[in-house]
Amino acid sequence: MTNAHTTKVSTPAALATTNYGSWQPSRAQELKLPSLQGQGLSFADQYQTKLLGEWSLQNINGRIKMEHDPWIQETIKDMTWRMNAQVRQQAPLALVIIDNPSINAFAAPGGVIGVNTGTILAANSMDELASVIAHEVAHVSQRHYESGADERKKALLMQIGGMLAAIAASAVDGDAAAAVMMGSQTATMNSSMAFSRSNEREADRVGMQIMNQAGYDPRAMPRFFATMNQKSQLNQVENQFLPSFVRSHPLSNERLSDTQSRAQRYPPLSLNQQQRHQALFDLLYWRVQVMGQHASETSLTTAAKNSIGAKLALMYWYGEQQRFDDAETLMTEFQRLTAAKRQALEPLLSITYSQVLSEQGKWQQAVDVLQAQQRLYPERRDLRLYLAEALTQNNQPTQAQTLLKPLTQQQPSDRYAWQSLQLANEKIAKTATSSSVADIATINALRYRSYDQLWNARYESALTSLTQAKQLAEKMQASTQSSSARPLLANIVQEIKNVKTAKDYKP
Ligand SMILES: [Zn+2]
Repeated sequence: MTNAHTTKVSTPAALATTNYGSWQPSRAQELKLPSLQGQGLSFADQYQTKLLGEWSLQNINGRIKMEHDPWIQETIKDMTWRMNAQVRQQAPLALVIIDNPSINAFAAPGGVIGVNTGTILAANSMDELASVIAHEVAHVSQRHYESGADERKKALLMQIGGMLAAIAASAVDGDAAAAVMMGSQTATMNSSMAFSRSNEREADRVGMQIMNQAGYDPRAMPRFFATMNQKSQLNQVENQFLPSFVRSHPLSNERLSDTQSRAQRYPPLSLNQQQRHQALFDLLYWRVQVMGQHASETSLTTAAKNSIGAKLALMYWYGEQQRFDDAETLMTEFQRLTAAKRQALEPLLSITYSQVLSEQGKWQQAVDVLQAQQRLYPERRDLRLYLAEALTQNNQPTQAQTLLKPLTQQQPSDRYAWQSLQLANEKIAKTATSSSVADIATINALRYRSYDQLWNARYESALTSLTQAKQLAEKMQASTQSSSARPLLANIVQEIKNVKTAKDYKP
């Protein structure tokens, strides 16, 4: 489909450029994937599914508190895309990380995969976290959420509506009244989301195969299921109105023992693989802790004695607290590590240090630190975003724009990239010496803001931004001082159409 919002398929080759070593998928062994259903979906159905996915994503973005940290996003996205690539050619539409302490993961129709930060913090390893996501990827690949059949369409729509309401309810931090209000919708969601037993068993079975092929340990699945089951029973009263993985995917004893016996058929990971996963999980766990402001100074300093991830998080925390001498002391310790050990922490070490420098307004140094990493890992979205931010602050907004544009082309729903593009263009407008360059930058800043608003389900605001952009472009064209107004105007007209289509879409 040639639509402006078509999501590009990322290839496994592109994913392999990340730095945590090459996780070669283990051989498929004796197990074969079950036949994949629904590969022959009609174009009309595919298009409907795509619209539904975009609508779900826009509404989830508009209602729920997200964890936007680019390094956390990159790390979980890499894992998710790697597993997805084992069973589907098409990349998921998007990954959303929800800033919420309850344990949950979900897959929405159209390929939006979501996971709560609570799931990351409850897991004990990369493989446990992978098991929940693998289960969701399996639901998507087996098309448990999709159906062209009319009689099932209504049930599907109830699922999405209910899911959005439920997620919104869970995002209402401590606001019991709102949670109760949402409670009835949540109940609807729970009954309609409860998949059939055969679907759940299939998602477990396919999920474990996906894990194995992507280089994760399927034995982690029954282990994490048991933990979740236990925790959900302990918190049943508090969680009454909260959706959770356990509530939407009931974990019967039968299911637990089924996954347990199935997991034993897989060989354990090599020691090397285990160590690599553990090291990455240590970084992820503490980054989530510190970004979500869950960690106190005491817990960070205590953990930093044994955990390098906690030590990095502590350096970030010192930066945030403006305790720059303490942060520098830690950086000196990191610099004393052997080159190999330091390399294993990259690019997070450089990212964290650049954040400490940014807090002090040392933008040129932040640029230098990030540029060295970005040259090594040009495909990484996180480095592009951090570097672009530092470049804009350092009065190099044009270079920032060059880094950001490929991101929005690859992933039109990338709100972080749109916001950064907007900031870069506002800076260009402010500092430009020619008035036509300044005008174009002002118009583009408005256009980029409209994309952020579109993907946030703020359709009216997006239309307002575009109307302003259109008026400026028309004024430019009338004064005929620039030939670039005409194509710009054509773009804006198309963008207004796109926003209106999204606004009028009813699932
Ligand atoms: Zn499930």
